[in-house]
Amino acid sequence: MRILLVEDDQMLGDGIRAGLMQQGYAADWVESGDAAETAMLTNEYEMLILDLGLPGKSGIEVLKDVRAKGNDLPVIILTARDTVEDRVLGLDSGADDYLTKPFELDELTARIRALIRRRGGRSNPVIEHKDIVVDPASHAVKKEDNVIDISPREFTILLLLLENLGKVLSRNRLEEGLYAWNEEVESNTVEVHIHHLRKKLGSDLIRTIRGVGYIIDKE
Ligand code: CA
Repeated sequence: MRILLVEDDQMLGDGIRAGLMQQGYAADWVESGDAAETAMLTNEYEMLILDLGLPGKSGIEVLKDVRAKGNDLPVIILTARDTVEDRVLGLDSGADDYLTKPFELDELTARIRALIRRRGGRSNPVIEHKDIVVDPASHAVKKEDNVIDISPREFTILLLLLENLGKVLSRNRLEEGLYAWNEEVESNTVEVHIHHLRKKLGSDLIRTIRGVGYIIDKE
C-alpha cells in the first residue's frame, strides 16, 4: 500500500515514515503542500496523511484542491490543532479522519486499516476469500486453517489484490504498492512474489492476464 505523508517537522516526518515502512507500507514523505501535489501527479496513493500547518500552502488548501480535482483517496489529518472548530473544518473540507498530536503509531495504523477497509466496502476487519483468511492487522495468513508463512512484500501484493477483488492490477501498480522512492526496485520482483504466493496459497488463486497484469477473481 502506497501512502503519501505530508509533514514539515523533520523528526516527526522521519519517525512516521519509518514506522509505516516497518508495518509494510510503502511511504513517501514530503514536507510541503506543493511537493505533495507533485507527488500525487506522478504516483498513485492509497492514502494521504496530511499535516495542517505547512510552509506555503496549508494542509486545508491541499485537501480542498485534492477534492476539487475529484480525487477520492482517503485522507487522515494529523495535526497539533485540536479545537473542535479545527476538527470540524478538517472533516468538512474532505478529510476522512482526524488525529491530533501527540499520537501513537499503533492508532494511526489502525485508522489507516479502518479507512482502507471501508473503502473496500468491508466491515469485517479480517478478509476471507475461499479457503484463505488474511488479517491486515497482524499480517497473519491462513489457508484451510493452517498458518502460512509469507514475506512482508508477498503480504502487500496479496492484500492489494484482495482489496481490489475482481480487478486487474498491472505489474507497475503492484510495484508502486511495494516500493517507496528511496527503495531500489528489483526487476522481476513482482513475478517472483506472485510465483511464491501461488506455491503457498494455490496455483489458481492469482490469475495472470497476459500483457495486462494480475487478478484475484471474485467467487
Ligand atoms: Ca507542521
